[in-house]
Amino acid sequence: MPKHKRVLFLFLLGVGLPSIILGYLAFRGIQNDQALLEKQNIERHNLIAKQIISLVDAEISNLESDVLNKIKNKQVVSDSDLIQSLHSIIKQNPLVDEIFYLDNNNKIHIPTATLMYIPDGHKMLHSKISISESLKQKLEAGQQYEFKQKNFQRALSEYLQVYDQSAEKNIRGEILSFIARVQKKSGSIPDAIKTYERISNDFNNIQTATGILLGLTSRLECGALFLKVKDTLNSLRKITGINKSLNNSRWELEKAQFIFFKKRIQELLNEINPDGNSDPQIAAYKDTISALQNEEEELISKTEKLLHFQQNAVAGLKTGFLKDTRTDQHNCSRLKLNIGNFSYLTCLFKSIKNNINRKNTRWGIILDFKHFLNTIIVNSIQQSLPPETDYTLRELDGRILQTSDTLQTGSIIVKSNFKYNFPDWNIELHQQEPELFESFFSSSRSIYFYMFILIAGILIFGLVLSSRIVSHELELAKMKSDFVSTISHEFKSPLTSIRQLAEMLQSGRVPSEDRRQKYYDVLVEQSERLTHLTENVLDFAKMEEGKKQFNFESVDIKDLMDDIVSVTQERVKHYGFELQLLTDESIPLIKADIPSLIQSINNLIDNAIKYSGSSKKVIARGYKENGWIVISVRDFGIGIKKEETDKIFDRFYRGGDELTRNVKGSGLGLTLVKQIIEAHKGTIVVESEPGKGSTFIIKLPVDKLKEKFNGANINH
Ligand code: ADP
Repeated sequence: MPKHKRVLFLFLLGVGLPSIILGYLAFRGIQNDQALLEKQNIERHNLIAKQIISLVDAEISNLESDVLNKIKNKQVVSDSDLIQSLHSIIKQNPLVDEIFYLDNNNKIHIPTATLMYIPDGHKMLHSKISISESLKQKLEAGQQYEFKQKNFQRALSEYLQVYDQSAEKNIRGEILSFIARVQKKSGSIPDAIKTYERISNDFNNIQTATGILLGLTSRLECGALFLKVKDTLNSLRKITGINKSLNNSRWELEKAQFIFFKKRIQELLNEINPDGNSDPQIAAYKDTISALQNEEEELISKTEKLLHFQQNAVAGLKTGFLKDTRTDQHNCSRLKLNIGNFSYLTCLFKSIKNNINRKNTRWGIILDFKHFLNTIIVNSIQQSLPPETDYTLRELDGRILQTSDTLQTGSIIVKSNFKYNFPDWNIELHQQEPELFESFFSSSRSIYFYMFILIAGILIFGLVLSSRIVSHELELAKMKSDFVSTISHEFKSPLTSIRQLAEMLQSGRVPSEDRRQKYYDVLVEQSERLTHLTENVLDFAKMEEGKKQFNFESVDIKDLMDDIVSVTQERVKHYGFELQLLTDESIPLIKADIPSLIQSINNLIDNAIKYSGSSKKVIARGYKENGWIVISVRDFGIGIKKEETDKIFDRFYRGGDELTRNVKGSGLGLTLVKQIIEAHKGTIVVESEPGKGSTFIIKLPVDKLKEKFNGANINH
């Protein structure tokens, strides 16, 4: 298996596989953690739901025991006592609407309720009071005069006689109403008003045999008559008074009667029209009238609801009671009855025996639905619910009764039933699903998540690192094999030419002295080339092993460069090459390792010649600049691409260009130069433009070198 594949394989086996396994375990850990949290959440919310239900239960239980105590109280011996004490509960506890009982005939009574009216046909009428024959005749005569002959004078005198001679209060009151009527018919309105006022004063509570309430009718007649004589203010006073008394259930009326009186009042009020009246005293009644009207609407709806309950609830109560198998401390069934358009929340006790002898009486409570829902339930929920949770309260058929103000469509966590407590509604608790990331971080074991990230990081880092190592290894391997093949070629060609020339000279086959001289030159040049090459390879090997030693001694750069350039010029002159040297007159001495410095300058000049292409000119310079000795070698050859200028100093690196490839080389020259110059605390840079040539610039510090290496040999 190739090396890089093996490295990758080992990496996957040693790092990748464990990482995947650990990652999977971490992921499972997160999942389990999530499931555990969900379970805990459900348990917590179940407890919350239970708490809400038990808070509501406690409220109702308290009320039940209150009512039960009052009913069972031994000191309460009369109905009125009992009703009074029940009234006190209603007053104190807004959760109670009314308290009722079922009698032995399964009739519902609501003793605490004051109804505005009773159902039609339920009014108890007094039996007719008999009067003497002579008075009866006079009464009939009076009616004859009044209705048939329209002789009001005679009618009045007949009625007056009956009135005077009758001792019975009921009869006197009724006759007085006849008298007032006749007075009204005959046009003597002030007399009629007086008579009616007398009736309302002296016979206020009299109810005639036909069920007419004298107090109420006389007042209404007064009101109408005041209006007739344009005494609007008095009329309004009277009418408002009647209206108030009707709202206060002052009169025991059947529904039809109630409606009749209310209608008559409305007609009179319409006639008066206090809104449009300029008299401020009359206009002041406006508010009272509308307040009474509002009160009336509320009272009517309450009356209707209770009457409906009274007439229709028995069946529902009984079946509900039978169905309820709950046994609680109060022996009480809690039922929600939907009858027609009305809903009732009731608590119905089993038979209670008390001091007031009503055998098998079943008492019950009608709860105030609004208070129960909006106060008891809402308070219990608010007390128990954490802020991030919402709720929905539903009837069994799914209809919503209540929701939290902030309800969002989070998923339902728990659904609990009020069964056996109060109405078997469902309470649902919702919570927004946390985001996946959020849950990771909020999780108590978020360590898994970080582990997961860490492993992924290591995995990626390892992958990048090993692939870089592999590709670097590959590159190095390729460079080395390139190096071996070029280096052997480099050695081979000068050796071949040296051998050929030496053989020719040895065999004496070169006749002219001139030619022989030329051959000697070539022999010297080729052997120098071999020497350079060998030096480069050996020095490189030393540097790589860290065994290269530098002996620093004073050197005059000008002289050194003169020597190098003239030797090289000599070597390459037969190619027509021109080597120029420009140096400052006086360049300070510096401390340097002379062979290494010569090798560096030689390498630069060699390169300049090698990569000169068709140009045949190289300029070497030496000068001082700001505390540096600068040595530069400039050619006008093929130049270097910008992206290569950094790489050319790397080991074995050879320019990738076709032109460069035609030139022999080892890729070691510049590496050595750089290492040598850096050992002298100097720098080397290149400025180049492809096609125009390159300038390599070496800078060596003057002062530092003087101070640091003052005559001493430094071993690296
Ligand atoms: P080589 O033996 O290949 O010359 P060096 O280390 O001396 O090795 O140089 C590295 C590379 O730098 C060369 O292969 C060549 O591409 C580029 N190079 C060096 N000197 C010059 C120059 N004067 N002009 C153009 N390219 C150069």
